[in-house]
Amino acid sequence: TSGSEENDVVVIGGGPGGYVAAIKAAQLGLKTTCIEKRGTLGGTCLNVGCIPSKALLHSSHMFHEAQHSFASHGVKFSSVEVDLPAMMAQKDKAVSTLTRGIEGLLKKNKVNYVKGYGKFISPSEVSVDTIDGANTVVKGKNIIIATGSDVKSLPGITIDEEKIVSSTGALALKKIPKKLVVIGAGYIGLEMGSVWRRLGSEVTVVEFAPDIVPSMDGEVRKQFQRMLEKQKMKFMLKTKVVGVDTSGDGVKLTLEPASGGDQTTLEADVVLVSAGRTPFTAGLGLDKIGVETDKVGRIPVDERFATNVSGVYAIGDVIPGPMLAHKAEEDGVACVEFIAGKHGHVDYDKVPGVVYTHPEVASVGKTEEQVKALGVEYCVGKFPLLANSRAKAIDDAEGLVKIIAEKETDKILGVHIMAPNAGELIHEAALALTYDASSEDIARVCHAHPTMSEALKEAAMATHDKAIHI
Ligand code: FAD
Repeated sequence: TSGSEENDVVVIGGGPGGYVAAIKAAQLGLKTTCIEKRGTLGGTCLNVGCIPSKALLHSSHMFHEAQHSFASHGVKFSSVEVDLPAMMAQKDKAVSTLTRGIEGLLKKNKVNYVKGYGKFISPSEVSVDTIDGANTVVKGKNIIIATGSDVKSLPGITIDEEKIVSSTGALALKKIPKKLVVIGAGYIGLEMGSVWRRLGSEVTVVEFAPDIVPSMDGEVRKQFQRMLEKQKMKFMLKTKVVGVDTSGDGVKLTLEPASGGDQTTLEADVVLVSAGRTPFTAGLGLDKIGVETDKVGRIPVDERFATNVSGVYAIGDVIPGPMLAHKAEEDGVACVEFIAGKHGHVDYDKVPGVVYTHPEVASVGKTEEQVKALGVEYCVGKFPLLANSRAKAIDDAEGLVKIIAEKETDKILGVHIMAPNAGELIHEAALALTYDASSEDIARVCHAHPTMSEALKEAAMATHDKAIHI
């Protein structure tokens, strides 16, 4: 095992930030150990986040399509039903195959993997209580904190993962709730709400703010909310939860307008608390070595991902920036490149964000509101999916592409896509932004026909000139 041998790099946490940093460090020839307490690698993302949620989103979408769309495509059968245990088993299989795959990758790259809870005893030593009950000290010239984040509850609400669940419980419900209330209209709440809505639950989303997904472009958000309402998801915006009663069979919530006023009640079988995530550094001993945290518990770092303590770095959900798996991975690679004496770089302005509902909503760069606030003169090009031949051919044409470009230079500032596979389409835009492309650059790229990517080309044409198909 690690023993007292010194590593060049020790990574605490085996999530997308940590395991990617460990593999990259080993690839750069650094002797590396990765410490993970969970027993499986992949962190929140693989075990209780991105992957299981996407598995259930796909399965529930297939059920929904079978019920509501297949017949119009001429595919008929007499009955469709949900086998929830089988659906969950498929999700679990996806998770376990992938977590084992990462363990294989660590082995292949000769990363030493220690299963246990790490805590600092000095800036270059981590004591690990291993999951088999032993203790070992892992030494490293450089230590990377990649301990991620945890679910956050709200004052007065206790998560029991049965009636009041976090996203983790919502990924493993044993039966389909008749009524599900989601507290918080961020992307995780909307994705999990969509899963159970498609499987038959009545879903009500309660949100304190006046809007769903606050980071989204306002115009796209409006269409997105309308689309979710068409799928019979209900929204109670500008509403706060002031009381929770679990004494009966289900849960009774007491609600109040955000600005105060008359109280109402709302009943549910299951309540999903989806009010954000909080950086996780419990039991890590940060105070012992003097690593600072900010007022919400994140670890501030400089452009090299270095904390205020020499030799100690931090990446991923535990530092400021978008709490996303791909951002954690980019942090991990850049951090290790700096440690190896090279140069790393992550541009947080060009991290794509995707909401994996149906259709998906994806964006990269700035929203129209942000561009306006900067006082930059801009042009907007839009193209509705209704005018895209591929979307019409498959009868899945809800959505749009919106491109915002600087007026003077035509440089692309932001791209927002609502489309069945927006999460894939967005990367052409991410590449364009990274290379400081103009909308004319995208418009002049030959796009294959018939594809939904043509909607991006047409929106680009609309930004600096005119679209052809509308
Ligand atoms: P984590 O993944 O949280 O990993 C940290 C790891 O460190 C954990 O495994 C933890 O056990 C371990 N650890 C903590 N402390 C210690 C210690 N002291 N010793 C040893 N080990 C320790 N992001 C996306 O980009 N796309 C999505 O579609 C998406 N969907 C999501 C859906 C849900 C339901 C949730 C909850 C999250 C989702 N996310 C998604 C967010 C994504 O999961 C996180 O941004 C990502 O996992 C952060 O990676 P990380 O490596 O920083 O931390």
